[in-house]
Amino acid sequence: PGEPVLISWDDANTFFHEFGHALHFLSSNVKYPTLNSGVRDYTEFHSQLLERWLSTDKVINQFLKHHETGNAMPPALVAKIKKAATFNQGFETTEFLASALMDMKFHLADPQHLDPDKFEKETLTALKMPKEVVMRHRSPHFTHVFSGEGYATGYYGYLWADVLTADAAEAFAEAPGGFYDKEVAARLVKYLYAPRNATDPAEAYRQFRGRDATIDALMRDRGFPVPAPKKNKS
Ligand SMILES: [Zn+2]
Repeated sequence: PGEPVLISWDDANTFFHEFGHALHFLSSNVKYPTLNSGVRDYTEFHSQLLERWLSTDKVINQFLKHHETGNAMPPALVAKIKKAATFNQGFETTEFLASALMDMKFHLADPQHLDPDKFEKETLTALKMPKEVVMRHRSPHFTHVFSGEGYATGYYGYLWADVLTADAAEAFAEAPGGFYDKEVAARLVKYLYAPRNATDPAEAYRQFRGRDATIDALMRDRGFPVPAPKKNKS
């Protein structure tokens, strides 16, 4: 009691994440919002996108203040946090993808006489899995695969939500007003938040972005050498 309640970077991120779920729900203009939710590879996108505002200058300077000095988080520390975000991403992306692809391969395989151990080995070899990296979840404990309809072949969904998040974040980053661009924000609410899942997510995303999401933005985010898109001079 009497001690200040300090918030870690992770906690702050979680606040923004959960607030994203709240905004998604509160923006709803469909008649039955709870009936228009729950697409596994889509619902985490709205919340993950909101996390991107945490590291914008406005939020840093207004809210991320030291509890004793009242000073905003110093730019050097912010730069460090951003730089650390790409640490080990090659490894993490590969180990995740191995599990996500195995999940799909198991569901495509003929279960009769299937030897899971052998199947895992053969599949990973066919995928050219680097031997230095192991799967995030090896098959014997990878409960997502057959735990129920919600997760069956759904493990990729976490990564797909990241693809959408990174691509949508670039729409803001490229806009004249950046993350506070009113026009992009209005499109975000109109096409991606308000309809919930009443519009097919792929179509809703196209309405927002003018094209399908590509993996390039996520690759850049994670530090892979994918060049930034050329700005259209119009
Ligand atoms: Zn969430």
